[in-house]
Amino acid sequence: MTLRNRLISQIRMHGPISVADYMQIALMDPKEGYYATRDPLGAAGDFTTAPEISQMFGELIGLCLAQSWLDRGAPAPFTLAELGPGRGTLMADLLRATRVVPGFYAAAQIHLVEVSPALRIKQAETLEDEDPVWLDRVTALPAQPLFLIANEFLDALPIRQFLRDDAHWRERQIGLSEDALAFGLGPVQPQPALSFRLEDTQVGDLVEDCPGLAPIIAEVSARIRDHGGVGLFVDYGDWRSLGDTLQALHDHKPADPLAAPGAADLTAHVDFEAVAKAALCPHSRLTPQGVFLERLGIVDRAQRLAEDLQAGVLEAHVAAFRRLTHPDEMGNLFKVMALYSEDAAPPPGLEP
Ligand code: SAH
Repeated sequence: MTLRNRLISQIRMHGPISVADYMQIALMDPKEGYYATRDPLGAAGDFTTAPEISQMFGELIGLCLAQSWLDRGAPAPFTLAELGPGRGTLMADLLRATRVVPGFYAAAQIHLVEVSPALRIKQAETLEDEDPVWLDRVTALPAQPLFLIANEFLDALPIRQFLRDDAHWRERQIGLSEDALAFGLGPVQPQPALSFRLEDTQVGDLVEDCPGLAPIIAEVSARIRDHGGVGLFVDYGDWRSLGDTLQALHDHKPADPLAAPGAADLTAHVDFEAVAKAALCPHSRLTPQGVFLERLGIVDRAQRLAEDLQAGVLEAHVAAFRRLTHPDEMGNLFKVMALYSEDAAPPPGLEP
């Protein structure tokens, strides 16, 4: 039975499910889940990401983390971690760029937090000369200094959606309409965790909550607080959610999220206020990706790389630079927030 038909019979028997449950099943079902079964990245996949667009992204993230490591007294050994490493491209670019930083590579113990068996295989190929440790979850990260990157990781975590009804909330659910999957609304229920949203919303507004986010941020930030370190979170989103941001991407185009569960990528914008609230250590100001990369020197790096390029390759390089930084492309939609230990300044490119 296809995943769609399995979902339909489950809903017919047990009733509607939350958007979070739907995302969880569509992304991670062991047989047909989107991430569980394939490598979705790149031109032949469904979407592309900053490290796949240009090597400059991983290089600059690497230099940012290495400088943060130096600023914290170059602790050894330390955990060099990535959450949701995709194809391993960012980690490979990061490791190449940080070779010039004495002691960094020797002290780094590489940990990759990845649930997808298909992507773990891809990561092992990309990082064949390394000896990474794969983890299922952040709770298994070692108790030692932690320098971490998570690019487009938080957006893949399942979200719940709530529609304001008077001074209460109704959860958006997925049920059936004439035997097809369809959105609907659950009963009015008390949602004490959302009471602060009564101040800035109106009847009919939709807000989102990502239940998996706070536990992950708490785990990461507790290690940073206790052992020192920095965590960089890069994603699309903003400070405080408002409106429906659930999106499906198939073949680089927006798709109906309910049309073919397991066949399209499902994500939601990240609410960075929730990241800040869950952090047990200081967090940086939320900063647009374009501003962050420019402060880290992407203009110089792009010019340096351009000197060795000609014709079509040069054009592609200039387009990639624009895509990462320009406010009309990823420069403004994507934001960066760092979690950092108090023993040193925030990472380069970011402010307290
Ligand atoms: N960071 C990569 C890939 C982004 S796609 C890049 O920028 O190219 C999202 C990644 O997160 C994939 O590797 C996916 O398998 C992984 N992922 C999604 N949910 C996860 C979870 N709950 N735990 C660990 N990894 C997860």
